[in-house]
Amino acid sequence: MHPVNLRIFRLAYWLVRLRWFAILGIIVAYFTAIRFLHISIWPLPVYIICIFLIFLNITSFSLLNYLQRSNIRKSLGIVNLIINFQISTDLIVLTFLLHYSGGVENPFIVYYIFHMIIGSIILSTIESVLQTSFALILVGAMTFLEYTGILRHYPLEGFISANLFNNLTYLVCTGLIFITTSYFVVYITKTIILESRKHEIAYLEANLKLKQKEKIKNEYVMRVTHDIKGHITAIQSCINILYNKISGPLNEQQEEFVNRAHSRIEILNRFISDLLNLTQRKLQQKQDKKHFDLKHSVEEAIKIAENYASDKNIRLTKTIDSSIADIYGEQSSIEEVLLNLIINAVKYSPPGENVTITAEDNGDEVLIEVIDNGIGIPEGETELIFNDFYRASNARNITIEGTGLGLAITKHIIENHGGKIWFKSELDKGTTFSLLLKKGI
Ligand code: ADP
Repeated sequence: MHPVNLRIFRLAYWLVRLRWFAILGIIVAYFTAIRFLHISIWPLPVYIICIFLIFLNITSFSLLNYLQRSNIRKSLGIVNLIINFQISTDLIVLTFLLHYSGGVENPFIVYYIFHMIIGSIILSTIESVLQTSFALILVGAMTFLEYTGILRHYPLEGFISANLFNNLTYLVCTGLIFITTSYFVVYITKTIILESRKHEIAYLEANLKLKQKEKIKNEYVMRVTHDIKGHITAIQSCINILYNKISGPLNEQQEEFVNRAHSRIEILNRFISDLLNLTQRKLQQKQDKKHFDLKHSVEEAIKIAENYASDKNIRLTKTIDSSIADIYGEQSSIEEVLLNLIINAVKYSPPGENVTITAEDNGDEVLIEVIDNGIGIPEGETELIFNDFYRASNARNITIEGTGLGLAITKHIIENHGGKIWFKSELDKGTTFSLLLKKGI
């Protein structure tokens, strides 16, 4: 949903929540007044108003839920109407409440100001001025009708003894202050809101531009890496001919140079492949998700990593819950993640160590952990570890093999699956990478 549309719904729900507080406030204020302050208030209107408000709030809430699920374009106008209706009915209800509990003598008369502030936050300038004028008409009419005796005045016995409701000087002075304060409050609130909305729009636009620039950058990187990859593959196949001595034997010096070129071109090839993989994923919109057997994928990843682990005499141990079988996602991407984490655990562990892989069924989610007793990640660098190209200083010291892109790809995949990835690490003691994946859609 567009952020502006989201905002209208958010504010409408906020109004519903505020009303629950208002209902609670009326009940608390009513019982405090009669129990502790011994002020006499006619109970029937208070009960009727509370029931009416509860009914209105439930109706507004249900209507908003329904609109949120339905066609958004048509809904927005209706949501605005609901908000206006809610504020207007609240003003009428407040007037009724005040009328039956002292009229202008009731200090809760300032609560009109709350409605004016709320209206100015949510509604357009013209709508908030109209709502404010409506509030002033209501309070003016109540005051006038009570003053002229057309409506009965219900005094707050035990609270105020002076009859302010028919004191003309008091009414005119308070009325003028009330009117000017009301419009001033609307003006100030509206100015603040418009100013903050300007910043919000500027922020959204900047964000959009940034995303567009990021897309252009990724498209550019993808094109360049794609071209480079073609050349590298051609060079690699030539070097492989020399390396495998297909074109004949090499002298010692030639062999040394060819070996160096061979290992460097392998590193370069891996780097280009990882970069291409990451940029393709960043640009890719659609995902090819389906149900697959996660248990099988974990076992496959372990099997593939076993060759690499045995070269370093590292033992891979596993504990996999049999119930994790079915999961929804991109099988090849999840397998890439698992393999990446296991290979890293092996790569950053000294020979002869153990790497443990656990997969635990947590109901709706699966928790996978890859635990090693390797070099760990320096404390000051933990924040950067998922960044593109980042390699920790201790990792750079022990091996040149690495692109710093594996974890960036991993994080991207996991977030696209609505999962989470994090790690705990202690320098020279080991690292545990944890992965939380949702089972269902
Ligand atoms: P690389 O190709 O360098 O392994 P990754 O993106 O996979 O790139 O990892 C980024 C960095 O995170 C590594 O260079 C290393 O510093 C650190 N790292 C990842 N896994 C581990 C681990 N199991 N133990 C220690 N450091 C790790």
